[in-house]
Amino acid sequence: MINHALCFLVFLSALHATHGVEYTVTNNALSTPGGVAFRDKIGAEYAKRTLDSATQFIWRIFQQNNPSDRKNVQKVSLFVDDMDGVAYTSNNQIHLSARYVGNNKGDVKTEITGVLYHEMVHVWQWSGNGRAPGGLIEGIADYVRLKANYAPSHWVKAGQGQKWDQGYDVTARFLDYCDSLKSGFVAQLNKLMRTGYSDQYFVQLLGKPVDQLWRDYKAKYGNIA
Ligand SMILES: [Zn+2]
Repeated sequence: MINHALCFLVFLSALHATHGVEYTVTNNALSTPGGVAFRDKIGAEYAKRTLDSATQFIWRIFQQNNPSDRKNVQKVSLFVDDMDGVAYTSNNQIHLSARYVGNNKGDVKTEITGVLYHEMVHVWQWSGNGRAPGGLIEGIADYVRLKANYAPSHWVKAGQGQKWDQGYDVTARFLDYCDSLKSGFVAQLNKLMRTGYSDQYFVQLLGKPVDQLWRDYKAKYGNIA
């Protein structure tokens, strides 16, 4: 009996070591058309699998091969809520707008998959202890979405935008340029952001100030910064 119990415990801890993160999906909007659309066109099981795939993808993009490289997160919860906007994440809880799901006229499954990749980055990325620019935080989230091939067609094209930390698609395209100068740049930048933030990180990693990199980037696509 004791041996069996021990074996089971060893098995459980091994299971925990490989599948350390638990995912839950709660649909709070089933009484609304958007909540029903989520249930019928996406579904809790697909959403859970997507959260797991996103996590694996993000760890790879961030080059976080060991648990000590990552945030210590045991559980990520997705809530489908009757609310405005698209989605937001706080305290390892992702809140997805059922109205956004319900109003989507295109390939809603692919669009929501991209949204979940973006939100999952917020769970795992470092924020420079809260000191990183919000536009960079959002740009890194969309950079991962871009690399996962879930960039929607309405995004700006490469070379577009007004400033490097404008956020979202603009900053994602710029980070993609930076990563083309030095493969793994975004992973290195995120690593540096574990403890703080400075624009000097761009100089440290790429040898040029971020404003110069932005001008180079704009010039590459025939635009003037
Ligand atoms: Zn975001």
